[in-house]
Amino acid sequence: MSKAPVAPEEKNEGTSLDFIRTIIAEDCESGKYDGRVHTRFPPEPNGYLHLGHAKSICLNFGIAQEHEGGICNLRFDDTNPLKEEDEYVQSIQEDVKWLGFDWGEKPFYTSDYFEVLFGHAVKLIEMGKAYVDHSTPEAIREMRGTLTEPGTESPYRNRSVEENLDLFNRMRNGEFADGECVLRAKIDMASPNIIMRDPALYRIRRATHHRTGDKWCMYPMYDFAHCLSDSQEHITHSICTLEFENNRELYDWLLETLGVYRPQQIEFARLNLTHTVLSKRKLIQLVEEGHVRGWDDPRMPTISGLRRRGCPPEAIREFCSRIGVAKADSMVDAAMLEFCMREKLNEVAPRLMGVVDPVKVVITNYPEDQVDEFEMPLHPELEEYGKRKVPFSRELYIERADFREEAPKKFFRLTVGKEVRLRYAYYVTCTDVVKDENGEITEIHCTYDPETKGGWSEDGRKVKGTLHWVSVKHAVPAEVRLYEPLFEKENPNKVEEGKTFIDYINPDSEKVITAYLEPRLAECKAGERVQFERLGYYCADLDTTAEKPVFNRTATLRDSWKRVERNQK
Ligand code: ATP
Ligand code: MG
Repeated sequence: MSKAPVAPEEKNEGTSLDFIRTIIAEDCESGKYDGRVHTRFPPEPNGYLHLGHAKSICLNFGIAQEHEGGICNLRFDDTNPLKEEDEYVQSIQEDVKWLGFDWGEKPFYTSDYFEVLFGHAVKLIEMGKAYVDHSTPEAIREMRGTLTEPGTESPYRNRSVEENLDLFNRMRNGEFADGECVLRAKIDMASPNIIMRDPALYRIRRATHHRTGDKWCMYPMYDFAHCLSDSQEHITHSICTLEFENNRELYDWLLETLGVYRPQQIEFARLNLTHTVLSKRKLIQLVEEGHVRGWDDPRMPTISGLRRRGCPPEAIREFCSRIGVAKADSMVDAAMLEFCMREKLNEVAPRLMGVVDPVKVVITNYPEDQVDEFEMPLHPELEEYGKRKVPFSRELYIERADFREEAPKKFFRLTVGKEVRLRYAYYVTCTDVVKDENGEITEIHCTYDPETKGGWSEDGRKVKGTLHWVSVKHAVPAEVRLYEPLFEKENPNKVEEGKTFIDYINPDSEKVITAYLEPRLAECKAGERVQFERLGYYCADLDTTAEKPVFNRTATLRDSWKRVERNQK
């Protein structure tokens, strides 16, 4: 096994906890929140989940699991009906379950709190802490000020409580057009934190919501809905990514002003991965512009893409545990994920034979009509996997790369005059080759030793090489899709002038070839993961059928990502 790539962030080894787990352990110790641990994972249902989300899922659900009685809610943060769909709600649940996590009886929805949130907004108005602003969006933007200059107060800022209550109810009742007015918190237009300069709490948006239909024509903003949903569910630790650091002040202000239960927000660095993009907006663009086969394309960093590629959920959990949690942004090498896949697949994937770049071998002293059937174990260590029968006949396919006419000393595979083992079958010796008019080898002629049946010799003579093979007349042709990283550039988010991340797509990221498989592989159902011996890990694709098997390459046996990087240099 190769060595694991080194994680840029600190690993939480043994008893040393990451900074979030340390805070939570201290809170449990001191009796804050009565020793309860209640986290949540709050996706917006506006896309499929990706590896970044997996990091957050493993963190939130993982922490809950580590504490007695700990709970993690799955909550759909569904406050923007223009971008949200039920398809995403379904896929998110499927992905979280597949990753191995359990959110209890039912998922939660911010939309279930719309009435409660409305009540909190009314309360803020009554306290003189919120107002309806009829300024245009441009005017509001201009009045916001900059990092160095304070903002200016809106002319509508000092409307009376009665007037604001009346206007807010009329907003709800649909008396104003989209964008005509907003509800804003009345905080401090001179605050050094721009987020505190009278942030918008509600906006008018006539759009049919995937759950509440047309009941509402205005929707709460993220900052308002998020903290109050956390409070409503009695979350203890609200863990989010660093870009919300400045929002924490507003999170705390709203809960304190309203005098409701207060969870604690903690920020951590989001996951960035080499050779990929992890932003829903960019992933949607890849899908909509047809650069990939869909959200679940095996090259996508989505959970559904990784699943289709053949990545086991354990590998993603192991990856998330290895990268750890930190407070500073960093970039994780995609090779780390491949390493985790290989490690798991090496343990569990049955091993069968397939030839991806075939050349024909004819065993000249083997009778024309004879067929031997060899029983081979499906896994060298896991006896419970059982065995399968593999037919052997006079004509076989081997890998083109397993034969060389001019072989260097250390070449232990096939060459003229040398003997090798055909896995679990016979020893064969190459006698000569047949070539076409271009000098390309079309046939390799060998003789076999009938005394070596099963792939070993009683006289104890040794061969250095063992090759995999498939009987030509029993071979099942299959479509095999070979994948490489979707982006050539290590960081496709960093674009040069005049370019977009789309320009960095690797044109060879998918190569479709025909491979020849032993018959048992044609029985694989979609999602079954196997090792093609000596080649790599493959997974039967959703498109697979017994008549036309389709496999995706999950990972090579060794690090191919490194090779890609080397080739670029
Ligand atoms: P994107 O940036 O892809 O649009 P998002 O943050 O808008 O993602 P949400 O659905 O709002 O997506 O995210 C749900 C949770 O997943 C949030 O708590 C968010 O912090 C977390 N999350 C999203 N992307 C990452 C990432 N790259 N690394 C770690 N956590 C992430
Ligand atoms: Mg978001």
